Amino acid sequence: MQEIESMYRVLGISAEVYAFGKKNEQMLKDRFERIDETAEYNQMKVIHAMQKAKVSEACFNYASGYGYNDLGRDTLEEVYANTFHTESALVRPQITCGTHALALALGANLRPGDELFSPVGKPYDTLEEVIGIRKSKGSLAEYGITYRQVDLKEDGSFDYENIKKAINEKTKLVTIQRSKGYQTRPTLSVQRIGELISFIKEIKQDVICMVDNCYGEFVETLEPSDVGADLVVGSLIKNPGGGLAPIGGYLAGKTEYIENCAYRLTSPGLGKEVGASLGVMKDFYQGFFLAPTVTSQALKGAIFAANIYERLGYKVVPDGKESRHDIIQAVEFGCPEGVIGFCQGIQAAAPVDSYVTPEPWAMPGYDSDVIMAAGAFVQGSSIELSADGPIKPPYAVYFQGGLTWAHAKLGILMSLQKLVDAGVCTLPEER
Ligand SMILES: *Cc1c(COP(=O)(O)O)cnc(C)c1O
Repeated sequence: MQEIESMYRVLGISAEVYAFGKKNEQMLKDRFERIDETAEYNQMKVIHAMQKAKVSEACFNYASGYGYNDLGRDTLEEVYANTFHTESALVRPQITCGTHALALALGANLRPGDELFSPVGKPYDTLEEVIGIRKSKGSLAEYGITYRQVDLKEDGSFDYENIKKAINEKTKLVTIQRSKGYQTRPTLSVQRIGELISFIKEIKQDVICMVDNCYGEFVETLEPSDVGADLVVGSLIKNPGGGLAPIGGYLAGKTEYIENCAYRLTSPGLGKEVGASLGVMKDFYQGFFLAPTVTSQALKGAIFAANIYERLGYKVVPDGKESRHDIIQAVEFGCPEGVIGFCQGIQAAAPVDSYVTPEPWAMPGYDSDVIMAAGAFVQGSSIELSADGPIKPPYAVYFQGGLTWAHAKLGILMSLQKLVDAGVCTLPEER
């Protein structure tokens, strides 16, 4: 359709960049079809969960104060439990982010003298302070909870031998991070998580297996709770919030462990009974309803970018062909101009704050300058199209999100446009 191309021209995409994008998109038809099928399955899973929980208009009402009998909140927790096939769930605006949800799960279910174990290597950066790998006030270490980890093997496989050795009489909770986050290891498929959990349970039946599910929800038709996880945890400003949740975190799992989390979040004795939903319920429900589709759109963007930049000769992780288990895409540019141009393109394609130009800056907690691009409706939301990269070798940019495929596509083409304009990369002759 001629009209579409002219709209891209209005937004600043040249004929050459558009044509290169179009060619890449055409090669992805089959994969996009499979992604649509997963989204379709998950859409029905969520609708079924909502119908089973008898979601009604009254669930969207405003609740304030203590929040006793907050119908919307209680029913939403049932919807999450139905979707993840767990006994119970805790889904609250009082859980401020993913790190908070994970800290809650750990703090609530571990006691002094217990040991936490990660069989998949170093956890997400922010958890280092929660655990006490890096010193922090109120860390698990301060409460006498020890930590042990076994790294993945060089080829990304589980180090079963050392995992077996690491599990001891103190091991109480095993934390498994599904997404690679900002590391170079592979993201774990749900099937692999299931195999790992089976192995661990064979060694120690009563150990709690928790999965950090951030960025993984609805990427596959199964969730870690379908393959033996006792507890799955995530953020509502990533996949399950569908871009509409303005805040929040969720935990889904066995009643006993969720109860512990509720007692820790509010107070011993009060648990799930308090915590008013303060008018965010409609967005939580509608966002969860949209989440399977939104996740599929972000996934298409990630695969499109992988193929575009792989074809231009850059290292991309995951590569253009690999199966996907989360929505993060890394591209290694090998030079600062690549990272900067990419992020500036993502910013320029945003619906919000498109007129600002991101620059690298010395962000607290990082050992190099960092550049970030985000023009989001919800601050820091990473289910919305966003990118960031530290200005240091290998000069990799990490990007994720996109509420719609068309926006993700525009963002990626705009990033390429900026890089072509800056002379960082050249398009292949035959397009
Ligand atoms: C984002 C993320 C977290 C932390 O979530 P925040 O909402 O940023 O606190 C933890 N683990 C993984 C794998 C993540 O991707």
